[in-house]
Amino acid sequence: MTDCVFCKIVAKQIPATVVFEDGDTLAFMDIGQVNPGHVLVAAKAHCENVYALDDAQAGAVFRAVARVARAVRAAFAPPGLSIYQANGKPAGQTVFHFHVHLVPRHDGDGMNLTWPVKNPPREKLEEYAAKIRGALG
Ligand code: AMP
Ligand code: ZN
Repeated sequence: MTDCVFCKIVAKQIPATVVFEDGDTLAFMDIGQVNPGHVLVAAKAHCENVYALDDAQAGAVFRAVARVARAVRAAFAPPGLSIYQANGKPAGQTVFHFHVHLVPRHDGDGMNLTWPVKNPPREKLEEYAAKIRGALG
């Protein structure tokens, strides 16, 4: 996609600091670096979000995520690591080309995700699960 910043990185039209590459994925340093060692693992093909990945791409991306995560742990020894992936503006997505964040984490590093649990009754869980099972196909 011509106006997509991550497509331009994949095509080497703009610079990026690459840490890993295979046929389906490219991993490179996030320019913002929430903490040192913050890496993005992107699909090489222009897939806007998780819904656009085929099974091979989904498998390749998560294999790369796990492999790069082990390397980030070996390189930086962070006490924690967050894996974050946003789909759509309400989820916080700002670059609309599928990617996964690997963010080394430290106590008090200022990165926060509020998690407003609702703790619904079991019947609600069953109702929600039935909808998802029905949509799985
Ligand atoms: P998201 O909000 O999940 O869509 O994340 C997009 C991420 O892409 C942000 O963390 C940005 O810092 C990062 N980013 C944007 N442009 C570049 C770029 N040219 N090179 C590396 N990272 C980038
Ligand atoms: Zn793209």
